[in-house]
Amino acid sequence: MPVIVHKYGGTSVGDTDRIKKVARRLCDIQRAGNEVVAVVSAMGHTTDELLRMAHDISPEPPDRELDMLLSTGERISVALLAMAIHELGCKAVSLSGTQAGIRTNTMHTKARITGIDTRRMGEELKSGKIVLVAGFQGMSPDEDVTTLGRGGSDTTAVALAAALEADRCDIYTDVDGVYTADPNIVPGARKLDEVSYEEMLEMAATGAEVLMLRSVEYAQKYGVPLQVRSSFTGQPGTWVREEKDEMEKAVVSAVTHTGDESKLTLLRVPDRPGIAATIFGALAEENVNVDMIIQNVSEQGTTDISFTVSQSELAAAKHALDKISAEMGVSYIVGEQMGKVSIVGAGMRSYPGVAAKMFKTLADAGINIEMISTSSIKVSCVIERGQIEKAVRSLHEAFRLESS
Ligand code: ADP
Ligand code: ASP
Ligand code: MG
Repeated sequence: MPVIVHKYGGTSVGDTDRIKKVARRLCDIQRAGNEVVAVVSAMGHTTDELLRMAHDISPEPPDRELDMLLSTGERISVALLAMAIHELGCKAVSLSGTQAGIRTNTMHTKARITGIDTRRMGEELKSGKIVLVAGFQGMSPDEDVTTLGRGGSDTTAVALAAALEADRCDIYTDVDGVYTADPNIVPGARKLDEVSYEEMLEMAATGAEVLMLRSVEYAQKYGVPLQVRSSFTGQPGTWVREEKDEMEKAVVSAVTHTGDESKLTLLRVPDRPGIAATIFGALAEENVNVDMIIQNVSEQGTTDISFTVSQSELAAAKHALDKISAEMGVSYIVGEQMGKVSIVGAGMRSYPGVAAKMFKTLADAGINIEMISTSSIKVSCVIERGQIEKAVRSLHEAFRLESS
């Protein structure tokens, strides 16, 4: 029997009526002769609300306890969904990440899945039940509850689809698919019918939160074709799959952005071997993900080194720098109000001049570029946070993404 994995985001299960609607869809799919697994997020803004309460109590809550707290949001959703399915006369069972056999490492609040024991899910499916798995969580080797980072239910869904060798994995969300830019910022953004894993990886890495980055890495690694679609309209969505020759390779497929970058600059750092290793080693020890790095030209034996981190990692980054800057006798400054705008497209590989057009577009809009980074299919610029929306709209227009 075909195995189908669905994932429903927070808006899709935002209230009990929406949960009942999801229940109807899952029963219909099971009755049509499929084995059905659904991964569900916490209702609406539950995760934000739980985080707010935690930070009301403690400015730096212990990560282990945060995970215990945050994992409850998804458990509420699966239990309610199971009840809704029972009401419709179908059989269902709700499972926490631990019960579903999802094993992770010990990195609380951003754990990685290390393996999935599918035995329990397999038994439940065989007994005719729809299996409902609480998203974004698993169990560490210490038998503690872990969570996978914001947006992690996408990763749960793709990982389950891979482990169960599912026939399809549909990610139901509050937009019709993957767009040429965040449709909430660019009203004329266009839905893409398909996008390659490679492009989607770059898009997710540069802020298109419609899919969590790790879920796309997983999908590519295990060859899971994904469909991102709306849980409200029933329209076909966007396929995320291996790049094929006949795929339309737009020079620029999408403009993405993040509004939560912070830039840290270490001033007058001694320019000798081992310094970068010391700085970035200290950041790695605090589990800080560093994004862009720039080292300036050396003058009189010293240089400035700048790098960016996401806002949520700023405290940890400062912690690391406080330790080593004292030891090295250097100071640092922080620019908190930064953002990043990027263009992504597989066709860029064989098309020169794309970066220049991006810089010219930003310049014409009066936007100053503070840092630049590129890959073969992406160009990113760090700019002031307040200029992000203008930058995204200008680039979307300049590269004619609305009509192409
Ligand atoms: P869910 O709760 O279903 O996981 P998310 O909020 O995580 O949903 O992701 C969907 C949101 O992603 C959309 O509402 C949209 O604002 C945002 N988004 C950002 N960039 C894009 C893009 N390029 N295409 C589609 N949605 C995007
Ligand atoms: N509830 C978690 C979050 O809001 C996980 C998810 O929705 O994917 O980030
Ligand atoms: Mg999400």
